[in-house]
Amino acid sequence: MRLTSSWSRRGFLGTVAAMVASMAAPRRLFSKISASSRNTRVTGFGQSGNPYEELAVTTVINCQGTMTMLGGSVLRPELEAVMAMAGRHFVSIPELEVAAGKRIAEMLKLPEGYTALVTSGAAAAMQSGLAGILTKDNEALIRQLPDLTGMKSEVIIQKTHRNPFDHQLRSTGVKLIEIETRDDLRRAVNDRTAMMHFTNFANAAGQIKVDEWVQLAKEYNIPCMNDAAADTPPVSHLWDYANMGYDLVTFSGGKAIRGPQCAGLLIGRKDLVSYALLNNSPHEDTIGRSQKVGKEEIIGMLKALELYQQEDHDALAREWQAQLEGISRQLTKIPGVSTEYFTPEIANHVPHMRITWDSRVSLEPKQVSKLLHESQPAIVIGGGEGRPGLSMCSFMLQPGEDKIVAERLSRILREHSA
Ligand SMILES: *Cc1c(COP(=O)(O)O)cnc(C)c1O
Repeated sequence: MRLTSSWSRRGFLGTVAAMVASMAAPRRLFSKISASSRNTRVTGFGQSGNPYEELAVTTVINCQGTMTMLGGSVLRPELEAVMAMAGRHFVSIPELEVAAGKRIAEMLKLPEGYTALVTSGAAAAMQSGLAGILTKDNEALIRQLPDLTGMKSEVIIQKTHRNPFDHQLRSTGVKLIEIETRDDLRRAVNDRTAMMHFTNFANAAGQIKVDEWVQLAKEYNIPCMNDAAADTPPVSHLWDYANMGYDLVTFSGGKAIRGPQCAGLLIGRKDLVSYALLNNSPHEDTIGRSQKVGKEEIIGMLKALELYQQEDHDALAREWQAQLEGISRQLTKIPGVSTEYFTPEIANHVPHMRITWDSRVSLEPKQVSKLLHESQPAIVIGGGEGRPGLSMCSFMLQPGEDKIVAERLSRILREHSA
């Protein structure tokens, strides 16, 4: 039938051929990049320079960090330029994926036998990675997912590592087997065990830590995945977990790496990554067909990684800290207001500031964040959720916005001061 034959034997074999070819000679992807169209004049929608404003959708000053709900991060101009170049050509997506993975492995100096796949996000990387473990390159099994007949069907996870993103594991049809202790783990391993999953941000919460988890997986000869989606900086996390022996590691492209918002990385063993690609768009009749990643995102992810690696991360951290200190100097002039700094151990591992006040200011933190959100321009700040006061970070602020935040926040606190 037309529908099923479009995911044809030829398409499938074509991908396998591209994977094999990529291991031989390097190929040139583009003949020539046409002249830049950066200065194209826009008429109609977008002519104001701010399409959001034209839709009456409020843009916000982001003091919360890399939140997907707010659009993740902002692209660097150089990245925008390279993504625009990518959009001007047609190219075989499987061939591009394999070549991009190879380049990423070189850039990150991944261990021998590792490569990378650009996915539509870390969530997609989790699903495709697990799907690949379940099906390998068996075309019938790939079409069959999430019906697991004839495949392994369980993934072991520490109870404290469960989180909303494990939906992307469950979507393959597997059952998550929760464990707490090493003994639980020993009892849980069986013929149905497909994978052991680790949630990197939950490292401190679980009894089995990140290095021991992968050792145990090796002992049982079970593939092991680490979801480290939001766990750069430090930049070294991009290769640390592969070096530790994790078979698959996932990252978001559109968080601190500041890649395309709809991109992510599956880093891992070449065989497993190739099976993940077979379970993903552009291949039809696959579980991952809904997680399309375009040529622009694939090229953009590569460029974002290059730019991210070249950054002076210590200097950036100092700049973010200095911005917080500037805001703090204004706020702490108000009687009863104090600030303190902290850096989360993992996930958004960048300088943060907690802002608290005593009874001399007659507002709850929730009310302050509401007033900030309603101000012009709107400001989004974290806090109120179980912790005292407000908390903010500065690493997603655009130039000059730290001044606006300081001015607006101190005005609100002053207006409600005794
Ligand atoms: C953000 C996040 C994801 C999903 O990443 P996307 O790139 O948005 O798909 C998965 N796991 C964790 C822990 C995350 O923080």
